[in-house]
Amino acid sequence: MNLTARILIGMASGLALGLLIQLSGIGPEHWIRVYFTDGLIDAGGDIFIRSLKLMVVPLVFVSLVCGAASLGGHGNMGRVGGKTVGLYLFTTGVAITIALVLALLIAPGEGASSADLVPSEFQAQPAQSIKDTLVDIFPTNPVTAMAEGRMLQVIVFALLLGVALSRTGEAGVRVCGFFDDLNEIMMKLITMLIELAPIGVFCLMTTLFSKVGWQEIFKLLSYFMTVILALAIHASLVYPTLLALLARINPLKFINKMREPMLVAFSTSSSGATLPVTLQAVKKRVGVKNEVASFAIPLGATINMDGTAIMQGVATVFIAQFYAIDLSLSDYLMVILTATMASIGTAGVPGVGLIMLAMVLDQVGLPVEGIMLIIGVDRLLDMLRTSVNVLGDGTVATIVARSENDLDLTVFEDPDAGMDSDQV
Ligand code: ASP
Repeated sequence: MNLTARILIGMASGLALGLLIQLSGIGPEHWIRVYFTDGLIDAGGDIFIRSLKLMVVPLVFVSLVCGAASLGGHGNMGRVGGKTVGLYLFTTGVAITIALVLALLIAPGEGASSADLVPSEFQAQPAQSIKDTLVDIFPTNPVTAMAEGRMLQVIVFALLLGVALSRTGEAGVRVCGFFDDLNEIMMKLITMLIELAPIGVFCLMTTLFSKVGWQEIFKLLSYFMTVILALAIHASLVYPTLLALLARINPLKFINKMREPMLVAFSTSSSGATLPVTLQAVKKRVGVKNEVASFAIPLGATINMDGTAIMQGVATVFIAQFYAIDLSLSDYLMVILTATMASIGTAGVPGVGLIMLAMVLDQVGLPVEGIMLIIGVDRLLDMLRTSVNVLGDGTVATIVARSENDLDLTVFEDPDAGMDSDQV
């Protein structure tokens, strides 16, 4: 049985078991919850996420040094970097525009009754200034950057090292060979870890669905469905159109090849933890060469969050409508700008998108405690938007690779590429 089928079975059985435990009305003190769902199963889920996160820093570093060395060697780095960042910003801008238009048409906040929804206090975190955000990208100590998992700093160091390698002649070639070998070994390690994904997602889904609060969804059905609709439009129309027009490839084949990272993103709600799986799928299944993939995918997992921007757009309109505050056209433009910035600043971990929403609300003078209205349904939406975030990273990487002649079409056209774990 192939890996996707096993992951799907793991997800479905976790979902069924979690719901069964929830519906059976077992209290929090019961041994099934204490030792099983909150004990063994929760530990299983945590171990799975930890083993993925374990790979992130070494993998990004090793693959990016090699990637940057060949990009630097060809003098293509600026162009590839520009295209990648430009496309990330563009897709996020489109995502949030779709979200705003849809939310204004559906008006989810107008039907929301204030008797059902009572916001409590919300402690907004002060937003970092643009200057500090910019300065913070540059590491003072690469080891600290790696130890603290600061992805943008690790990316900067790897890029610099890669460029220096490409300019150091003999020594550079030797060290690059070493990094190339290490990269292959890392990819092998990921393949081994992904084999555990069916069990990992089973554990994550069981814990989540044994707790998830359904009542909140009914109270916020209109908001919930508007976010889902906007995510669906973005994933099924915007990305395929861009892939067909700019990369001239079959979008359905592409989405099919991205199914494993999307499923892992859905189960973990973390594009950061999914990064190793995304990188592997984009390289081995889609056929994006390491030069582009090793740069675009880690950068995307850090700064590109289209799904998050969609949630923030719908949430802003919902909160404005709930409090009956009119937003002007310039307010909406401000929302597009700040939500794009906020999604860049959003780390790829569960639930952060909601915290960053405070920045967007603040900019247009909406009450930040409005976040408390939607917090109850955010866990489920987080799963869906993280899948869209990851699909967006893959889409941009593929388009950039195609434009640079770095997309291997034989790999892309081969339905079995990357499926045989021994080849990886
Ligand atoms: N969980 C999202 C991600 O990791 C971020 C967010 O929207 O909260 O991509």
